[in-house]
Amino acid sequence: MSQGLLTAAYIISGVLFILSLAGLSKQESARFGNFYGIAGMAIAVIATIASVNDINWLALLIVAIVIGGAIGVFLARRVGMTEMPELVAMLHSFVGMAAVLVGFASGLQMLGEISHACGSAKALDSVAAALGTTTDLSNQCYVAALGETKHVIHMVEVCLGIFIGAVTFTGSVVAFGKLRGIISSAPLSLPGKHWLNLAMVTASLVLGAIYLGNGAMWPLVIMTLIAFVFGYHLVSAIGGADMPVVVSMLNSYSGWAAAAAGFMLGNDLLIITGALVGSSGAILSYIMCKAMNRSFISVILGGFGTAGGTVVEGEQGEHQEATVDEVAQMLKSARSVIIAPGYGMAVAQAQYPVADITRKLRAKGIKVRFAIHPVAGRLPGHMNVLLAEAKVPYDIVLEMDEINEDFEETDVVLVIGANDTVNPAAKEPGSPIAGMPVLEVWHAQQVIVFKRSMATGYAGVQNPLFFKENTKMLFGDAKAMVDKLLAAVSG
Ligand code: NDP
Repeated sequence: MSQGLLTAAYIISGVLFILSLAGLSKQESARFGNFYGIAGMAIAVIATIASVNDINWLALLIVAIVIGGAIGVFLARRVGMTEMPELVAMLHSFVGMAAVLVGFASGLQMLGEISHACGSAKALDSVAAALGTTTDLSNQCYVAALGETKHVIHMVEVCLGIFIGAVTFTGSVVAFGKLRGIISSAPLSLPGKHWLNLAMVTASLVLGAIYLGNGAMWPLVIMTLIAFVFGYHLVSAIGGADMPVVVSMLNSYSGWAAAAAGFMLGNDLLIITGALVGSSGAILSYIMCKAMNRSFISVILGGFGTAGGTVVEGEQGEHQEATVDEVAQMLKSARSVIIAPGYGMAVAQAQYPVADITRKLRAKGIKVRFAIHPVAGRLPGHMNVLLAEAKVPYDIVLEMDEINEDFEETDVVLVIGANDTVNPAAKEPGSPIAGMPVLEVWHAQQVIVFKRSMATGYAGVQNPLFFKENTKMLFGDAKAMVDKLLAAVSG
């Protein structure tokens, strides 16, 4: 394939990626957004394969694509919707590691080219040595070549690519561990943690400067090790409830790592795609920080300025339990009902009976709406996707800000598998989730909480809602209980 055709294919892919992002920004157009993305990626992969002229490289590329594709299909088919953030974190770590490897390969290749170009100077030095004199021509040639603008720019790209890639790699591995529950979701709080971060960034800058000065690989290797520790520490310091922001922030980092790899490889499409992912991830992180009342800068810097708070252990009073028939009766005599779904609804796959019960109640003339917290579940828009899947009409699915004032005039609130997102402890200054806006369900006349036990939510914070006078617990798997409730309401 000619260079012109390849460039044209890359431009078309870039445009399709932009259309894809535009489509994904609204539920109604999300399906088309996905199609544009798939088409863009297909064109990019086919054009890249067609541009390889060497048969050995082509064979290697196809083998890599087949192996990678097979692993991708296998993982994507096995991963449940609730495990998506873990998969995404794992994929970000691959992008990070790829940027590190591309950085080293590219740095070594540049040194090889310089050494090749200085071959005649080396030969002259050898001749001089044979004649009994010493010359330093090869060293002078090497230093002069390193100082050339194109090589300085390339070395800056290598440094940045490796640093961002290494931070993304270990940060994503920690995020994966926290989301999977292998690593504690509590924030790691080492003494002087911000000074430690500052020291690591300063050391990386100094090592980068040494690399730019002499082109040697050892400063790069040490900088990479420091960046690995930095990424680990940065994400470990962020607490459980802030994980959504961390995932989208790592998404942004992986985009910048890909863009840096694009610069090193001279691949325009990688630069465009990386920049799109990097900036959209940064915008999403900013929106999520605003929604959770967190400072964007504080999260980027690994929880800078957050007090941490204390987890209140143990139960905080007596809780009351409800029966299915009792709840069915409450619903039948209600005028207005709000459903606040959370992670438990996703795990139990209770969205289908929830949608059925909604239809049933609406058919009886009862006003039913959904209240969606921006970080309910385990990925942005998780609840919207589940409810759309179960064909709940979009116009009764409202965002937190649109519905939070309406709980006071609501007869019954059904909290289905939500916990942190309805936790009144967020209003207490000392709490680890202090300041996070929550669905203020406790203002309703009656609150019914569907969950299996008195266990805490993802942030590990006890929930005073469960002990309020107007709250009753309906214990059991959310799907089984909503199924029973549906039967009771229908009866
Ligand atoms: P939580 O994770 O706070 O709580 C979910 C509750 O569901 C648990 O208390 C659990 O209690 C219950 N549950 C689990 N399985 C079932 C089941 N089968 N049937 C009934 N109940 C069940 O959920 P929220 O949605 O309220 O909050 C989301 C949390 O996740 C927030 O802290 C958020 O910061 C974090 N997060 C969000 C991300 C996002 O992008 N949205 C990404 C990463 C983290 P029990 O075990 O007693 O049943």
